[in-house]
Amino acid sequence: DIRDNIERIRADFPILKRTMSGYPVDYLDNCATTLKPQQMIDAVVNYYTYLGANAHRGDYEMSAQVDYHYEEARKRTAQFIHAKSEKEIVFTSGTTESLNILAMAITNQVLQEGDVVISTQSEHASSVLPWLEAGEGKGVEVRYIPLSPEGRVTVENFLSVLDDKVKVVAIAQVSNVLGYEAPVKEIAKICREKGILTVIDGAQSVAHLPVDVQDMDVDFFVFSAHKMCGPTGIGVLYGRFELLEELTPVFFGGESNARFNRCGNLVLKKTPFKYESGTQPIEGALGMKAAMDYIDGIGKKNIHEYELALKEHFLKRAAQELPRVKIYNPTAKSGIITFNVYDDGKLIFPQDVASFLNSRGIAVRSGEHCAKLLGEFIDVPGTVRASAYFYNTFEDIDRLVEALKDCTFTNCLDIFF
Ligand code: PMP
Repeated sequence: DIRDNIERIRADFPILKRTMSGYPVDYLDNCATTLKPQQMIDAVVNYYTYLGANAHRGDYEMSAQVDYHYEEARKRTAQFIHAKSEKEIVFTSGTTESLNILAMAITNQVLQEGDVVISTQSEHASSVLPWLEAGEGKGVEVRYIPLSPEGRVTVENFLSVLDDKVKVVAIAQVSNVLGYEAPVKEIAKICREKGILTVIDGAQSVAHLPVDVQDMDVDFFVFSAHKMCGPTGIGVLYGRFELLEELTPVFFGGESNARFNRCGNLVLKKTPFKYESGTQPIEGALGMKAAMDYIDGIGKKNIHEYELALKEHFLKRAAQELPRVKIYNPTAKSGIITFNVYDDGKLIFPQDVASFLNSRGIAVRSGEHCAKLLGEFIDVPGTVRASAYFYNTFEDIDRLVEALKDCTFTNCLDIFF
């Protein structure tokens, strides 16, 4: 149980020893990025301290050791999301790059004019913009699954936009604004029967829920290490082997090619190496492996249950003590709480709320959360988002509640004087 071990867990995160605005840091911005355990930091430092060489290029002991650790990280990643083979794991710089590669490759190499890509109104910019941009020149339409009144993606609503023109479904497993989980497995089953490709943005799910890409039966699944206790600058593009084999990369350079001549005549390396042009994020891969070991050591099921308990604690107190706070996603089964604060019936601008919370040492996110299309749905100029992870405490939530009680127009102004 995380609750019984919370002090030991928190001791692994050196940043939790620092202060913010003079208070111990109350970090509730885990959707944006998570904090890092010492074990992960050590893995990155170890690379720079003891290994040092480039990957897949050298013929000396140091480089062989780097190759070994880099490929071990690939195997560990395959295991983490239960891919059939490590050949299905491509290391990228993160979710955004993974999604851009897929949108460019699939649009240019697979789609035809008039084809449709299905997205949602709650999508992160990186999950929808690459399709809009790549599709524009080619006459490929992006169509949106209407959200339920609560803001969810449902199978029923997915079916309402499905027709023979749909060739790709590109959606997030968990929304970074409202925290709802989309019925990916059910949607993927329908897509499989109809030969529609599925591209799943796992940025907000992979660190919080057990993920099994074979059980979900999706074609592509992408995520970033930094949202799961790993380093920035590395992420994953998982793809079914046959599809990765079939597609051609969109970046070219060293180490991804087997040979070429002055006219081109490029022969690429095998999958997944053909997708990794240039020097790889080596320390990132090693750090990400350590992060996966750390998270699995705690257990995703435990993590998910604990996050729900933290959220439940907030909801209970908010119902009694925060009549001025409007919560948009009380039923979302995640640690994400999206809200706004009102004073005398008037909305306090979300960024002012975030600045006020900062004055109490509390880190939250405010604004549109990179999901600009959702603004049309929620109909406010933005929201405040508090997102918890397994190292947060019930006291962290209590501090948020207490601060929100004091969050008025006058007190928001006072922090500037
Ligand atoms: N998709 C979702 C759902 C996200 O929450 C984020 C990060 N906020 C991204 C994609 C982009 O991830 P990154 O910035 O690591 O590329």
